[in-house]
Amino acid sequence: MSLTRENAQQLDQNDQLAKFRDEFYVQDGVIYLDGNSLGLLSKRAEKSLLSILDSWKTYGIDGWTNGEYPWFYLSETLGKKMAPLVGAKANEVIVSGSTTVNLHQLVSSFYEPKGKKTKILADELNFPSDIYALKSQLKLKGYDPSEHLIRVKSRDGLTLHEDDIIEKMTDEVALIVLPSILYRSGQILDMKRLTEEAHKRNILIGFDLCHSIGAIPHALDDWGVDFAFWCNYKHINAGPGSVAALYVNQKHFGKRPGLAGWFSSKKEKQFDMEHTLTPAEDAGAYQIGTPHVLSTAPLIGSLEIFHEAGIENIRKKSLQLTQFMIDLIKQELNDYGFSLGNPLEDNKRGGHIFLEHKEAARICRALKDAKVIPDFRAPNGIRLAPVALYNTFEEVWQSVQILKDIMENERYKKYENNREVVA
Ligand SMILES: *Cc1c(COP(=O)(O)O)cnc(C)c1O
Repeated sequence: MSLTRENAQQLDQNDQLAKFRDEFYVQDGVIYLDGNSLGLLSKRAEKSLLSILDSWKTYGIDGWTNGEYPWFYLSETLGKKMAPLVGAKANEVIVSGSTTVNLHQLVSSFYEPKGKKTKILADELNFPSDIYALKSQLKLKGYDPSEHLIRVKSRDGLTLHEDDIIEKMTDEVALIVLPSILYRSGQILDMKRLTEEAHKRNILIGFDLCHSIGAIPHALDDWGVDFAFWCNYKHINAGPGSVAALYVNQKHFGKRPGLAGWFSSKKEKQFDMEHTLTPAEDAGAYQIGTPHVLSTAPLIGSLEIFHEAGIENIRKKSLQLTQFMIDLIKQELNDYGFSLGNPLEDNKRGGHIFLEHKEAARICRALKDAKVIPDFRAPNGIRLAPVALYNTFEEVWQSVQILKDIMENERYKKYENNREVVA
């Protein structure tokens, strides 16, 4: 059976989440498939940003405690609203910092090398910022990263085998940090199994949820994960540089923050201005300084959409969209030297498709000129993320046709095969 535009339109008609597309600023004639790098602005996120600006206008300093969203409690209020997206209790999540800063905070709090147990286990496919942070944390503790950072190898350069990770969980490992979904291939790691295996060996484990938050459901509490951290500008659509979040399992409450600041305080104590910190008794303790209120604001509106749509429904549609794209790619693009680098199984496939091609950089340029927005991942990857909240099946169909046209007519050849400054 061949897949047609009519099939796509039919799928759109039956789509329970279709109404959410109107909530977003989708540019006319542009097919935006980059929501896993920077999600689009929604009208509700815009509204909540304006409402916070207005509270500044109206209340000045008193905005900290007045208005619809008093700034002093905003990080906690939003942590509570995010908690269901990761399967956590309200006070196990705090909205604060950035992905990389939160990783620094969590490693400096939870990495406690002792005796033989001094190593950190990561993987060779993780996002560079995570690896830089881990290396610098090791150096700060006086260890040589070339010996103390173990990076699990990938067998195919795209994916990881849980068995290979578990094999590296030796009694020299103090801490494990892994991505939930790999940023290139979109592979989902089995967080439940990895957590169980780490704990059998007395190792703490944390996950970087940048590519899974807002794309798939999580059960961090049920799995017993020790900590997690993520950004809110990808699938969560809270805007460029929006404030990130972190999770600390309540069994660790009371553990002192490695990087303390006055916002680590118990809220009632903070303005006592004592030189001895009394940390919050929950995830709030891992905040550092004054929250970036304006960069937090869009998250208020964005999370409302997630609550209305439901993460289970979002995941269901996302799987349908990526499956439809995979089927179309197999049907239309067989002759052009592409290979699918993402896992094909539903339980291993995250929210995006990863197409590999030796001309990937210039194919991406040609796609952009044809108003399909992908992103390029060096050296040869094209990421395409059809997002459940605002992309349609018809757009998926159209983008594969456009890609086919670019290949058939060799339109990519008029571009240089290198990446742009921001890819
Ligand atoms: C996007 C991303 C980051 C980005 O870190 P920032 O501190 O937000 O710049 C880090 N890790 C992973 C896995 C990512 O996908």
